[in-house]
This record gives sequence, C-alpha cells and structure tokens, in this order.
Amino acid sequence: MNYWSEGDPIADTAAPDGPIETRWERRQFAAKLVNPANRRKLTVIVVGTGLAGGSAAATLAEAGYKVRSYCYQDSPRRAHSIAAQGGINAAKNYRNDGDSVYRLFYDTVKGGDFRARESNVYRLAQVSVNIIDQCVAQGVPFAREYGGLLDNRSFGGTQVSRTFYARGQTGQQLLLGAYQALERQVALGNVEMHTRHEMLELIVVDGKARGIVVRDLVTGEISTEFADAVVLASGGYGNVFFLSTNAKGCNVTASWRAHRKGALFANPCYTQIHPTCIPESGTHQSKLTLMSESLRNDGRVWVPVRAGDDRVPADIPEDERDYYLERIYPSFGNLVPRDIASRAAKNVCDEGRGVGPGGLGVYLDFADAIARLGRDAVEAKYGNLFEMYERITGDDPYITPMRIYPAVHYTMGGLWVDYDLQSTIPGLFVVGEANFSDHGANRLGASALMQGLADGYFVLPNTINDYLASGPFPALSASHPDVAAARAAVSERISALLAVDGDRTVDSFHRELGHIMWEYCGMERTEEGLTKAISLIRSLREEFWTRVKVPGTGETLNQNLERAGRVADFFELAELMCVDALHRAESCGGHFRAESQTPDGEALRHDDEFSYVAAWQFAGTGEPPVLRRETLDFEYVHPSQRSYK
Ligand SMILES: Cc1cc2nc3c(=O)[nH]c(=O)nc-3n(C[C@H](O)[C@H](O)[C@H](O)COP(=O)(O)OP(=O)(O)OC[C@H]3O[C@@H](n4cnc5c(N)ncnc54)[C@H](O)[C@@H]3O)c2cc1C
Repeated sequence: MNYWSEGDPIADTAAPDGPIETRWERRQFAAKLVNPANRRKLTVIVVGTGLAGGSAAATLAEAGYKVRSYCYQDSPRRAHSIAAQGGINAAKNYRNDGDSVYRLFYDTVKGGDFRARESNVYRLAQVSVNIIDQCVAQGVPFAREYGGLLDNRSFGGTQVSRTFYARGQTGQQLLLGAYQALERQVALGNVEMHTRHEMLELIVVDGKARGIVVRDLVTGEISTEFADAVVLASGGYGNVFFLSTNAKGCNVTASWRAHRKGALFANPCYTQIHPTCIPESGTHQSKLTLMSESLRNDGRVWVPVRAGDDRVPADIPEDERDYYLERIYPSFGNLVPRDIASRAAKNVCDEGRGVGPGGLGVYLDFADAIARLGRDAVEAKYGNLFEMYERITGDDPYITPMRIYPAVHYTMGGLWVDYDLQSTIPGLFVVGEANFSDHGANRLGASALMQGLADGYFVLPNTINDYLASGPFPALSASHPDVAAARAAVSERISALLAVDGDRTVDSFHRELGHIMWEYCGMERTEEGLTKAISLIRSLREEFWTRVKVPGTGETLNQNLERAGRVADFFELAELMCVDALHRAESCGGHFRAESQTPDGEALRHDDEFSYVAAWQFAGTGEPPVLRRETLDFEYVHPSQRSYK
C-alpha cells in the first residue's frame, strides 16, 4: 500500500547565505519597507493571542498596521502560554560561565538532533538577548539575585545557566507583559480584539491568504474577515494524544485548515515527550500536569536497583537506589535533554523498576537539595510547583520524593515556513509553536518561549513588511466565489457533524484516538506499529462520522460542536503523523524508531538518507499525502552522534 507519494523538493529561498553572523542583518536590510503612512492602509489578521500572537499583534499595531486579533478564549490572557512554568533562554552570559550566541546556537542545533535549519537557529540565538531587554522594559518580574541582577538557572541539554525565570510562572508573567502591550494598542484603536471566535477556514484568493472564516462561539454566527495578510499563532497540536500537558483547548484546526488549502505541514511526527509530569492516575483524567524541568536543577532522579522493589522510598537505602541519569550520562546528569530523559525513564520502567501504581513512575527527589540549601531556599525557587504537586497527589514533596513519568508536551512539527516565517501560501505567516521552524527533532527546555517571542516581537515584524509592501490588495466582499466557497465549507461541515446524531460522545473518540497515538506513535515507534496505527485511525475516523453524537445546535454556545470539529481534524492529522513517522526510518530526537538504535539504545540517525525537513502537501481527501523534501545543510555545527555522557 502507498501511504505517501513523492513530490518535488522544496527550498527556503528567503534565507540569505554568507557568514551566519550577518544573515539576519542582511535579510532585514534586503527586505522591502512600508512607509509609516502606508501602514495605516494595510490590515493584518492575527489568529492567536499567546506569546507568539500577542507579541506579534502588539508589535505590528505599534508599527502602524491595522490589526485584527482572534482567540477562542474569553480573554487573550487565557492563551495556553500562561501555563509555561520554568523559564526562557537567552544568551546574555550574565553568569560569565562561557555562554554566547554561538553556544546557544550550537546547543540548540545539537539538541534538535541535527534536524533544524542553522540559519533560523542562529537568528533565534541572536534575538534571544533582545527579548529579555524588551520584557524587562515591560516590567516582567524576572527573578533577581541578591545584588539585583537577573537570576539564571539551567535547563536540559546545556552546561551553562541561561534560563531567565519568574518562579514557576514564567509564561504567565511574559504573557501579562505581551497582553499589556496588546491592550494598549486595543485602547489606541489599532487592534480590534475578537475573543471567543474560532477560525474554521482560511480564505485564499488569487493564490494569496486574504482572510479567515470564523465562528462566534457564543452566538454561533459565521462570518468572513478580510486582510492583506494572515498570521497564524495558534499553538501546538499535542492534544492529538488526548492526554498531554497542554491546555484542554489546544488543537490543530487553524493549521489543519490552512494545510488543506495548500500550506505544507513539516515534520508532523516530531513530538516532545516531557520526562517530568505527574503520572496518569486513571481513566477519569482529561489532561496531565507538568512538573517543570527547572526542578531537575536540584532534584535527583532515581528508581530502586532491584526490579519489583515496592518499599516506600524512605526505606530504600542509598546503595539500593539507581540514580540512572547520573550513572549513564555523567557529564549532564539529571539535566540531559528531554528526549533522552524520557526514554531512560521508559527503559527503567520496562525493566520492572518503575515506582507507584502500575510501575509507571520514577522518583524526583529533593532530599539532597533540602539538606544542602535548606528548605526555605528550595521553597523560594520551586514553592508553587511543590504546592501544585501536593494538591494533585496528596504527597508532600518536601518529605516524599515526587513521582514523575513522561507525557506529551510540545510539538516541534507544524506548518512549514521559510526564513521570513511565510508558509507556502503567500501572505500566510506562521509563528510560535504552530510553525516547525527552529527546534529540529527535539526542543530544548525554555526555548519555546524564546522562539515564540523572537517570532512575534522581532522576526515577523521585520519580514512581513517585505510582503505587505506589495499591498494593499484588492478589496474583497462576501460574494467573491472563493470567499463564498470557504464560508459554505464551514457551514456544511458544521451541519454534517450535527447530522450524524449517533450514540458515542466526541470525547470517547478523542480518548481512543489518543490511545492509538500514544501506543504506536508515542515514545517508541516501529514500522509494524505505525502501519497498524494508520489502519486503526482510518476505521475509527469512519466510525466517528457515523456514530458521533453532537447534542444541541450550531446557533448557540455549543462546546460539544467545537470539540467535534477539532477532533475531526485531529483524526486527519493523526494519520499524517503516523505516515511521517513511518517514512522516517531513522531515530532522531523525539522520534525514536526501535529499528534504528545504537548498541547502547540511543537514537541512531541516518544522515545520508534523512537529513531533510519532511514537508507534506495535502493531495485531496483520501489521497496519499505528497512528500516534499527540504535538504538541511550544516556548515557550522557538523552532525555527530549526540552524546551527553
Ligand atoms: C505546562 C507547560 C509548561 C511549559 N513551560 C515552558 C517553559 O517553561 N519554557 C518554555 O520555553 N516553554 C514552555 N512550554 C511551552 C510553551 O508554553 C508553548 O510552546 C508556548 O507558550 C506556545 O505559545 P504560542 O503563542 O505559540 O501558542 P499558545 O499560547 O498555545 O496560543 C495559541 C493561541 O491561538 C488561539 N487559537 C488556536 N486556534 C485557534 C482558532 N482556530 N481560532 C482562533 N484562535 C485560535 C488560542 O485561542 C490562543 O490564543 C510549556 C508548555 C506547557 C504545556
């Protein structure tokens, strides 16, 4: 059976060549500008108000463009970015511990297992230093040392301290900063804010992205909205697994609708499984809770040496504990990258040495840190995370080690964009977690906030000018055939979901889909498992369209209907993820193919065959997707077997 077909290669033609240090500056200089008086004549739609969308909308409005901003929450402040805990990286070298733009670049390319673009990653590292200044100017209360300087801590995959943080609430504080900047522009009349509106279709006219179809989630009204360019900042799709650390509402619909309209989807199978989450406790759960990676600065990860040892942790003496990360990876210890730590946890649990119910857990122990630093110091750093853990599990982590297990957390895949963050549909730009751009096959901790804010505050506001300089584009009306067709497609889809009137809930389908994905496209993948998953997904999708029950109507607030549309898109995405994982017969970062491992069980890449971005083109419903390859070149950081030993 042909699961995919081969298409023409694709290239990132927007990226300048020459010395990597000057590429961004040269691209900015070469990009066309729009003079301030003309900016007022140009409208940009921004879908999403998280860190990427909030910062982009505020900055574009500040520059003088007319911005229309959309989110499905009741406030821009409730975007999922608010949940980010641990911190944001920047190559400031405040600690004088050998950090530099080049080292952040190097760590990120290596951390991504040599599956990211060098040009993008270098720019990210350069811009990282501006983000901190921008946020401090906004009043973001980063943690400070006694002397008043900004404090840093370490995250996985690095040997320096470059992570800026605001206790365990970094995302919240950064989002409040972006939100204030955004609200200022709303008050000035430069941003029109549309909360509780969901984008359900992209409007493409004459090959250009010209608007979106949205549904008012309160009244059910469907409308068409026009602009000269559309920016998607709609976040990641980890919830395809049903259980993940993402906010319950996170979904793929905005990206998927754009994909069906011609935007390529890159590396969909690259999923980040985060090693430090509170283990699943039963079928009642609808989401999982992250325990920030920052805890691995001071917490030590261990399991009993002996399989089946079910003594309480306090009764297990030191010499009967296996601090396996420190043992296997002495250079990085507990701060190995997430993909490595997650697989190591799975391996010890597979050996029967896992702890807690079902043996699916490992300890994260703070006893040494408390003895060394004192309880107060530990509480000052991690207090809110400890409290959250205690509220959820009933255990006091100051006394009993936390129990943690890997869970789906972030998606490195997303819509393909060039160096300008423009997708393959002219005028459609994609920022933040929704694009695929900078993390390769594995994202290092504290780099999502960095990328989202780099995209929104600094990169997009420079690159989008180059496109908008050709505008304003001809005015559109609802009667334009392409606009009317986009709107009709939304109405038909809603009617189709309501018409099934079956006997199974949306959630029961979503849960079953998530189970298939976790089982066969989760921490370990095989050719056999992925083939099986594709056939399971197809039959479950068929069942969905004959048995799903969506109560109520489309004319009012109807959360079942919202969820049904999102789950329908997850079904299509899930199949593409499995096809992508199947075609990539190598292991790299978050994609571990059991058939491709080193003798000691580490991910084994095949650079000769797979050193490319897999950008998938939609070929029509029921048709195999088309694989377009973008070759990756490494001039500066030469691909090697990743070692953290
Ligand atoms: C628990 C947790 C902790 C984390 N901690 C860290 C950390 O410490 N450091 C770090 O770097 N990263 C962290 N991350 C990752 C990081 O938080 C996210 O990658 C990042 O916040 C994503 O930002 P975003 O702006 O791209 O998307 P989001 O914040 O997810 O925002 C998406 C926006 O799009 C809107 N939207 C989506 N679809 C539609 C639609 N169809 N119509 C209208 N609006 C739509 C939503 O309403 C929302 O406003 C963490 C993630 C989790 C889950």
